[in-house]
Amino acid sequence: MTRSKLFLSTIVLLVPLFAAGQAAVDSPRSADLNISAKARAIHESALIVDTHADTPQRFLDEGFDIGSTDPKDIGHISLDKVHRGNLGAEFFSIWVEPETNQGHFAKHTFDLIDSVYEQAARHPGRIMMAFSVADIERAHREHKLAALLGIEGGHSIENDIHLLRDYYRLGVRYMTLSWSNTNEWADSSGDVNDSKVQHHNGLTDFGKQVVLEMNRLGMMVDVSHVADKTFWDTIETTKAPVIASHSSARALVSAPRNMTDDMLRAVAKNGGVVQVNFFNGFIDQNYWDAAKAQAKDRDAAVQKYIDQLKAEGKTVTYLDTDRVEREWGARIPRPPLKSLIDHIDHIAKVAGVDHVGLGSDFDGVSGATPQGIDSAADLPKITQALLDRGYSAEDIHKILGGNLLRVFREVERVSHEMQARPATAGAQ
Ligand SMILES: [Zn+2]
Repeated sequence: MTRSKLFLSTIVLLVPLFAAGQAAVDSPRSADLNISAKARAIHESALIVDTHADTPQRFLDEGFDIGSTDPKDIGHISLDKVHRGNLGAEFFSIWVEPETNQGHFAKHTFDLIDSVYEQAARHPGRIMMAFSVADIERAHREHKLAALLGIEGGHSIENDIHLLRDYYRLGVRYMTLSWSNTNEWADSSGDVNDSKVQHHNGLTDFGKQVVLEMNRLGMMVDVSHVADKTFWDTIETTKAPVIASHSSARALVSAPRNMTDDMLRAVAKNGGVVQVNFFNGFIDQNYWDAAKAQAKDRDAAVQKYIDQLKAEGKTVTYLDTDRVEREWGARIPRPPLKSLIDHIDHIAKVAGVDHVGLGSDFDGVSGATPQGIDSAADLPKITQALLDRGYSAEDIHKILGGNLLRVFREVERVSHEMQARPATAGAQ
């Protein structure tokens, strides 16, 4: 009952955006009919940057080839989809599941990094590894996807600043200080209320050192996922602008991983950028409530499936949990694209249009993206929706990638400045 009611309101909201109707979503050619010539021109002249896709797990665990043109593939990212959506740069997320990889975080980090390089090596005419703003711009000129690396979760450095530097040398250009797990130096929003977990009241002294070393190296500091106190400690510590690589607004959806208006304003003051996460649970309160209500049963179903696989002597990968998560997620009505646009709009209003961008979380949300956004090929719909809300071409370009590039450039500048200073002990 709730479902059909929601579904109806959804259609009403979508009509002005997609006059050609629902059937248009799957085929790129017919989807194009929903995008005006003006929106298409704005979209195609933009350098589009997305700061979070979990596709490396597909590369590593599934043997997925980014060159795949399989029409039945339900993934969000492929070279074909990237091309159709005019995506210029993707930050591939290096995410190490902390429970199953206990004791070998670094090894799994290296394996995932390798998987991205291997994809670039397979398709040299269509992808290039990128490590700087200049690289992203060069890839764009050469009509290639710029592939960048971001580590999602400070546990990957195994409390070792040397490893952090090694990751930078391998090309990692941002690190999310924590994932959903509190590590030994940064509290996470994912377990901050769990009394069984040892917390630090934000960042430890070592955590602050990590932030400063990232500033010195030129690695962007990512505050997505962190506990509120960790966020504020980071803002106080950092010498360079921060990013939230995939975070939405808490004023609209009460997920603790979303950012409050005070945080949005602090990022603006810091010169940073908040890249909006497309996950239904973070952009739509109805979805969040429904997902929370089913959490216990869903988690039990996931665990049961894992136990069953283990009993059969099979290796469990993210694919197995993803399969069950998808089934459960599909029971909740998919929110309209409007929900996503509302977050971009809210952050643009609270923090300013210079401080918002796109951090899709593609391939990391078990398919739970809003209606109309089935893959990177659907990015032009976001441009159309922003245009419909009165955003100028210039502002849309900032949101689609310009803001992130500005922050990345400033992070590079701060790094050069810090490295030019003599490293005398105690010198300020
Ligand atoms: Zn994440």
